[in-house]
Amino acid sequence: MTTHSSAAIEVHDLVKRYGDKAALDGVSFDVPRGTVCGLLGPNGAGKTTAVRILTTLTEADAGVASVAGIDVAADPAGVRRRIGLAAQDATVDGLLTGRENLTMIGELHHLGRRTSQARADELLAQFDLVDAGGRLAKTYSGGMRRRLDLAATLVARPEILFLDEPTTGLDPRARNELWDVLETLVGDGATILLTTQYLEEADRLADDIVVVDRGRVIARGDARGLKRQVGGAQAFVTVVDPARLGAVADMMARITGAEPGIDPEGRSVTVPTEGGPRVISQLADALADEDVEVEDIGLRQPSLDDVFLTLTGEHIADDAPVEVP
Ligand code: ATP
Repeated sequence: MTTHSSAAIEVHDLVKRYGDKAALDGVSFDVPRGTVCGLLGPNGAGKTTAVRILTTLTEADAGVASVAGIDVAADPAGVRRRIGLAAQDATVDGLLTGRENLTMIGELHHLGRRTSQARADELLAQFDLVDAGGRLAKTYSGGMRRRLDLAATLVARPEILFLDEPTTGLDPRARNELWDVLETLVGDGATILLTTQYLEEADRLADDIVVVDRGRVIARGDARGLKRQVGGAQAFVTVVDPARLGAVADMMARITGAEPGIDPEGRSVTVPTEGGPRVISQLADALADEDVEVEDIGLRQPSLDDVFLTLTGEHIADDAPVEVP
């Protein structure tokens, strides 16, 4: 069943239950062609479940989903021909080299041996794996492995890509390298649905962000809009002597005109500000004038935890990572 829609992905009132727990509890969103949608949420929010339904690995209990205009329940094979999936568990074979992995996938897609080898070499170059291409994949670092995973999803030039937490578990450097690669794909006009626990990742890569929590969509917008909802950037000062916290809060209130929050345990004061570095330089001067010993000072963007706190009034569960890398 094909619909004539400009959306690459359409999801309407999707429900998926495991026992009496709803992993998805009426989720709706759409992804226009040529855009990147970031499905953002903590562990257990339902992100992987949504991806599994859209990639035909599991069926919804209720609701409708279409990918490339094809209903996922009515024609799963048709959907599978149009998509690429980089799942959380690596799909590449550690006992084959990077090049062999990519070539094999090409052959599975009936590209023919020669075309598959050429495509493998092209992808190894694109993902900066030329030197590693002859080594067994099990010897790759985490970041290289993720790049190979991503390359594997692109062998058959899919129309729509699903990336499930592409950078979770990577160190900051590997994460940045992968973001560079993904940015190139995005720049080339790919349609991508990516799931992530990191606001910064969604911010950097996604045109549109859908925030999910406990199986429901709790907010949607671009990164700037979401950050505005949580009050934008914050200036913070961490002092050496907690006795100075009150004085610093007064200073920050005077400079920003906003109401600061004091965290006695963290010995820090935080205040929302749109003033950017100018506010920090005024603060630094005032702190120096009053001889306040400072451990840390700066501007920070809202974290995923800030977004959740503002939208739901609750912190993310303790087992979920809340830091923005
Ligand atoms: P994560 O970052 O941990 O992958 P997620 O947002 O992708 O989180 P899901 O994996 O979609 O979340 O899980 C949503 C909820 O459904 C969770 O509470 C999870 O425990 C539950 N769940 C998912 N798959 C199953 C399953 N096969 N059987 C039982 N419960 C499941």
